[in-house]
Amino acid sequence: MRYELIHAHNPGPYTGAGNNTYLIPGRAPVLIDAGTGDSRHLAGVAAALVQSPSTLLTRILVTHGHVDHASGIGALLAKWPKAVAAKMPWPERDDRYAACWSAIVDGALIAAGDTTLRAVHTPGHAPDHLCFFDEASGILFTGDLVVSGSTVIIPASSGGDLVAYLASLRRVLSLQPVRLLPAHGPAIDDPAALVRQYLVHRQSREDQILAAIRVGVDTVDRLVSHVYEELDEQLVSAARESVLAHLEKLRSEERVRAEANRWVSR
Ligand SMILES: [Zn+2]
Repeated sequence: MRYELIHAHNPGPYTGAGNNTYLIPGRAPVLIDAGTGDSRHLAGVAAALVQSPSTLLTRILVTHGHVDHASGIGALLAKWPKAVAAKMPWPERDDRYAACWSAIVDGALIAAGDTTLRAVHTPGHAPDHLCFFDEASGILFTGDLVVSGSTVIIPASSGGDLVAYLASLRRVLSLQPVRLLPAHGPAIDDPAALVRQYLVHRQSREDQILAAIRVGVDTVDRLVSHVYEELDEQLVSAARESVLAHLEKLRSEERVRAEANRWVSR
C-alpha cells in the first residue's frame, strides 16, 4: 500500500520530534491522526493530496483522544469540510474537540486509499486506542501503542491500564504485521522483536517494583526514584503514572495492597 508520512510540527517533551500522521492516497484518500492544527501540517496534507488520484480527503481516522492526535481535527475539517472525522468513542475526551465524530468499532473495515483498513481496538495507553491494519501489506498504523527505542506512557490516573496494554501488545503480535508505523519516531520493521522486548521490559519493571515493595519502598514517589535512575525532571510525572500503572495491575492481581498512601505486598 502507498502512504505518506506528514509531520504534525508539534515537537515537545512528550511528543519527541512531533507527531507522525499518515496520508493514504488513492481513490479514497484518508489521513491517520489529526495533529494539532499547525498550518505546516495542513500544508503538508494539502501537498500530499495533490499527488493523489483523488484529491478529496474522505476520512480522518484518529487513533485515540490525546491532544497531539486529535486536537487538529477542527482545523482539518475547516479546510476539508466533507471529510468524516472518525475514532472509537471516549465521550469525556471527544467533546473537547471541534468535530462531530463518527464512531469506529473494533473490527470495522474502512476504505482507505485503494485498500481496506481494519480497526483493531488496542486499549492500555488510552481506553479508545485503535490501530489500523492493512492485511494485504502487513502494515499496521500503531498510534501510541509502540515507539522505537523507548517505551510508551501508561497514564494510570487518566484512562491508562497496564493489564489492557499487555493484552493489546499480544493481540498485535498475533496479527503478525511486517511493519509498524507509529505516531512518534521511525517505522519499525521487526515488529515481533520490539513487541516481545516490550513484554520483557514490563515484566522486569514489575519484578523490580515488587522487589522494592518487599524491602519497604512503599510510596509512589519513593518507587519512582528507586526504579528510574537519573530521570529528566520533565518526565517525572510520566514515570509516576507508569509506576502507578504497575501498582494497579499488581493490586488487581491481589499481589499488593494500598494502605493510605503506602503500598505493601500481600
Ligand atoms: Zn497518546
